[in-house]
Amino acid sequence: MHRGLTIAVSKGRIFKEALPLLAEAGVVLRDDPERSRKLILDTGEPDVKLVIIRATDVPTYVEYGAADLGIAGKDVLMEHGGGGLYEPLDLGISRCRLMVASRPDADLALPRLRVATKYVRSARRHFADRGQQVELIKLYGSMELAPLVGLADCIVDLVDTGNTLKANGLVPRVPIADISSRLVVNKASLKIKHRRILEFMSRLEAAVAGRADDARRAGTD
Ligand code: AMP
Repeated sequence: MHRGLTIAVSKGRIFKEALPLLAEAGVVLRDDPERSRKLILDTGEPDVKLVIIRATDVPTYVEYGAADLGIAGKDVLMEHGGGGLYEPLDLGISRCRLMVASRPDADLALPRLRVATKYVRSARRHFADRGQQVELIKLYGSMELAPLVGLADCIVDLVDTGNTLKANGLVPRVPIADISSRLVVNKASLKIKHRRILEFMSRLEAAVAGRADDARRAGTD
């Protein structure tokens, strides 16, 4: 573990939305992530590095202390489970919902309902909480296809605008959880680099609060 801070950020949508927040918190990238093939990116602060990795790997890097901090979706954190991480801050970005979705006419009360999803843990908990026995089918992508080809009765997937469901003749049926990106912190790092991490967290928190104020003002204008 190097003495500065390493921040692991999920690739893709979360990275794009997290960059301006990180910049407001004083962490500005020096490498252009679009052009660079480097896996460890330098920032304006010599002791702060960013690693851009697959969303599902972020909690693992942070849990093992390979990164002190991480930014990942709540969906990924719920799937990862485990108690190795602090989750002190909701960044309010990459918002969406984890939903049960199906063809409009599908009977979700079927015994041994077949549920296709990448989010096996969250789906299992959702149906177990309702006392419903289901057959979970693990997929790694394109969940929307499963009900169309008879692989499953329904899916559990992230829904933002609902356009992907609609384009495939599916409808949202039951909301499971509101999702947004969270800051996660390695427990040992928080002890060892306490001041540095708290300082970064408070700057990030201020950036998030500033965003919320802007959104409220825009809503009342
Ligand atoms: P939409 O068509 O806007 O409802 O978006 C749904 C598609 O985008 C699904 O394939 C989701 O898995 C993906 N998606 C939506 N929101 C997010 C998010 N916040 N993070 C990651 N994937 C998302």
